[in-house]
Amino acid sequence: MSPSDPAAEAALSRLTVDLGAVRRNYRLLSDRLAGVAGAGVVKADAYGLGAARVAPALWQEGCRIFFVATLDEAVGLRPIVPEATVCCLNGLLAGTEDVFLRHRIVPVLNALEQIALWRTFGARVGTALPAILHVDTGMNRLGLGEDEWHWVLETPALLDGIDWLYLMSHLCAADEPDNPLNALQLARFHRIRGQLPRRMPCSLANSSGVFLGTDYHFDLARPGIAVYGGRPAAGAANPLECPLRLEGRILQVRAVPAGGSVGYSATWTAARASRIATVGVGYADGYLRSLSGRGVVALGGRTCPVVGRVSMDLISVDVTDLPEAEARPGDFAEVLGPTVTPDAAADAGGTIGYEMLTALGRRYVRHYVETAVGQGRGETA
Ligand SMILES: *Cc1c(COP(=O)(O)O)cnc(C)c1O
Repeated sequence: MSPSDPAAEAALSRLTVDLGAVRRNYRLLSDRLAGVAGAGVVKADAYGLGAARVAPALWQEGCRIFFVATLDEAVGLRPIVPEATVCCLNGLLAGTEDVFLRHRIVPVLNALEQIALWRTFGARVGTALPAILHVDTGMNRLGLGEDEWHWVLETPALLDGIDWLYLMSHLCAADEPDNPLNALQLARFHRIRGQLPRRMPCSLANSSGVFLGTDYHFDLARPGIAVYGGRPAAGAANPLECPLRLEGRILQVRAVPAGGSVGYSATWTAARASRIATVGVGYADGYLRSLSGRGVVALGGRTCPVVGRVSMDLISVDVTDLPEAEARPGDFAEVLGPTVTPDAAADAGGTIGYEMLTALGRRYVRHYVETAVGQGRGETA
């Protein structure tokens, strides 16, 4: 989106994604992985940051395997990283085999039925097709359960006729390093790996799993949120950079007398004569309504509280304590970004950083910049 784009000029809010920070986060993860490959998880449009720009940046950093959730996301990603391995986490549904083949998408096979479908299809087209074998170790969401795994052990030929790229499982509590489920899932994964009728490379860790230590790294890690700056564990220091900055424009600054209320249902009443900035971001943009009376925005290097209800297109911010020159109509307030991180906003709003990011609405014009460490922001497109 160029600065002269009429839609960009008209926009009341803007979302800036620093691909330099995305790259640095990926490099930091690669350092932690010390030689183990790191995939790029770019489902949900790279957690709202825009897969069309994020995926090529990761490719340039050496990322060769990408995961998305759905088949249509995979088909959309295919031309963006034409040489990469693109994997579809949500599995294989009967009738879609041909779409996988045509677009060279690797299905993550989550059940015996899916394995049979892929083997049969491979036989029909005359080749063993690539796939990832997903076994459940505790999430009970997707992947072969214990009962299905026993069938495999009794009949190893069930795995024949497929070109297995990886055995994978998914951690359910890796963001809680002390949760005993981590070690339990690791032990189950080791057992299943040892029982495999033939060896294959293994993948267990998501972002937080990377930080659990090398025991969890195996042959491929699958970080998502950490690439986008999310913290590995609540309460722990976050070594990653926040690559996004969501700014909303101040539309008006109003004088509200002591006793005056603000917003729907009058949930906030001014205790003193106040200046209230009305900012053009609301829940229709992904600014969660649960941040009503709980969120903060950054203006002039300080944080100011969101007061009253978040409405569809607007929030009200108490700027009484700021010099007037730092909160004027037309100014941009940082609603999410390095100062008000998605994790911090999520804590205030009763959710997780993942939801803050993926909720980011379509109403924003996304700007992409590339910064080097300590460098100013340079517009690239
Ligand atoms: C989403 C997802 C990931 C990435 O998880 P993060 O916590 O964002 O790093 C990895 N593996 C699977 C199976 C997923 O669904």
